[in-house]
Amino acid sequence: MPASAKKKVVLLGATGSIGGSTLRVLRAHSDKLELVGVAASSSHRELAAICHEFHVPHAVLSDEAAYAEAKAANTFPANSHLGCGESGLIEISTLPEADIVLVAVVGACGLKPTLAAIEAGKDIALANKELLVLGGAFVIEAAKRKGVRLLPTDSEHNAIFQCIEGHPQQHLDKLILTASGGQFRDAPLKSLAKVTPADATQHPNWSMGPKITVDSATMANKGLELIEAHWLFGLEPERLEVVIHPQSIVHSFAQFIDGSILAQLSPPSMTFAIQHCLLYPDRAPGVDATTDFRKAFQLDFKAPDFKRFPCLQLAYDAMRSGGSAPAIFNAANEIAVERFLAHDLAYLDIPRVIDHTLEKVETSAAATLEALLHIDAEARAVAQSF
Ligand code: NAD
Ligand code: MG
Repeated sequence: MPASAKKKVVLLGATGSIGGSTLRVLRAHSDKLELVGVAASSSHRELAAICHEFHVPHAVLSDEAAYAEAKAANTFPANSHLGCGESGLIEISTLPEADIVLVAVVGACGLKPTLAAIEAGKDIALANKELLVLGGAFVIEAAKRKGVRLLPTDSEHNAIFQCIEGHPQQHLDKLILTASGGQFRDAPLKSLAKVTPADATQHPNWSMGPKITVDSATMANKGLELIEAHWLFGLEPERLEVVIHPQSIVHSFAQFIDGSILAQLSPPSMTFAIQHCLLYPDRAPGVDATTDFRKAFQLDFKAPDFKRFPCLQLAYDAMRSGGSAPAIFNAANEIAVERFLAHDLAYLDIPRVIDHTLEKVETSAAATLEALLHIDAEARAVAQSF
């Protein structure tokens, strides 16, 4: 790409929390970045507004009813082509003009468009972690084979990526992921039985979508991130640790064999990681103010309590079992959180649904993507019937 050309970006999940932070980065760096495709599930008016503001030529609504509604209401600019469904997502992920696809949809639905983008030779900025927990082996293999960059946008993995860059793999000892501990970190254990969706979708540090906010409360999120780190950085489960860090300023640590530890710090805003990925390997002024050491503040760290966070233990166990176990963990968690948010399931039943599903669905090696997707579907059905 000539130095003067703008990098052409496709944003899957444009109307979400990561989507919104990405738009802020795009506004600030319109001389370097150009939005050529956007996708959302059903919020068509918001997606149309993005197309108007950024003059986006390609948009997709994965939800067919929303697509029909948008067509009838005629809300999109005349020169934005509107597609729909999974085929639409795959189409914009493989646009000939696109350089990089930022995957910020929520859940395993991101897997097929991501694989298609990789096959089309696009670099990937990966915010979505569920697709890596489901299909990490296939994603990593495809990215290596195609020689595309898989840039970690999840803040912990972005931090690690920045810390280990330029260091040979054999110098790395372990990775330590920080976790805020969520909103119930210090709540009396007894009070957790009464947690409502309204309680569990308020995070003390981060403003995020509902699914990941619940995952942060249960720490299933950190469990998914351990598995994500396993795939992204190629380390065995024994070399991946979690530490509770309530302030969410240190985004993770890389420890080297001589005992030196590197960390990346910035305030809890996703714009730092998103911008790092979109401009990579370049850098430019950030859109949010960074940490100011002239002001006094405290950084605390403590080990996680697995009794309070059984989902974290279940994720560790699934990661150690390997094969399809992480996929089963993810599918069960997605269903459990969906049902919890719909007021159909108690908060403390979330780990029970995961445990039950891991017991019932047989773990196998899942040699093909089809086999894996079959296990994913089976796990979802078992979790639903809990
Ligand atoms: P969100 O719920 O705020 O937004 C999700 C977006 O994806 C929306 O635009 C929605 O329309 C779209 N979407 C959902 N299902 C879709 C489908 N089937 N097809 C097309 N579009 C679909 O979620 P979020 O908090 O922005 O999180 C997105 C992903 O990034 C998740 O995997 C999450 O774990 C990860 N992540 C988020 C944060 C954060 O700060 N929000 C941080 C790290 C990682
Ligand atoms: Mg994270």
